[in-house]
Amino acid sequence: MNGDKKEAHGEFLGRICQALQFNGIKALWVPDRASALEKALSLIKNGDTVGIGGSVTLEEIGLLAALRRGDIKGIKFYDAYQKGLPRDEALSLRHKSLSASIFFSGTNAITEAGELVNMDGFGNRVAALVFGPGRVCVVAGSNKIVRDIPSALSRIKTIAAPLNCRRLGRMTPCRETGVCDEKGCAAPERICNVYSVIRRKPGGADMTVILVAEKLGY
Ligand code: SF4
Repeated sequence: MNGDKKEAHGEFLGRICQALQFNGIKALWVPDRASALEKALSLIKNGDTVGIGGSVTLEEIGLLAALRRGDIKGIKFYDAYQKGLPRDEALSLRHKSLSASIFFSGTNAITEAGELVNMDGFGNRVAALVFGPGRVCVVAGSNKIVRDIPSALSRIKTIAAPLNCRRLGRMTPCRETGVCDEKGCAAPERICNVYSVIRRKPGGADMTVILVAEKLGY
């Protein structure tokens, strides 16, 4: 991206942050994933319990690795997404994450009006975002920004869900074709079961969005 394009992109991200702030959500944009990681880590306090939602973005900025390595001392990390974790244990950690001190998540889409749109298979992520931990931090690449809620839902069905089904090896129609077959998708492994739109910051939450001027996640 040349200088002019970078400046225009920065101004655009600034406007999205203003829309989020208008909706009661703390928001800032950063130029790259390293800065996003630094900001995310700065939100964790000594003694915190930390929950996460499944997110390629959190992996890509290095937050998951930092939490798993134990880079931050004095915290307890509820790692519900370890490979090979028995289903009962994974579910138990997802339940614990709902009452963690702080919850980190990606998001499927952010509208230009500052709304967060998410679709879940289990619902643990949307539950945590809406009425879970007292502090919530959402990290999103600029590729997640869409015009409005219909565009967000379309993004989920045409990009996020098919790619996530492929990544997770889910036996759903979109995994094979890349196209949603809503009526034909009664698969137990379907990931489009629960969706939420956060129109404004939920009452009890302290919510921060870190927008990154990079393409991250699906
Ligand atoms: S409803 Fe099923 S086929 Fe459609 S995007 Fe979701 S998981 Fe894929």
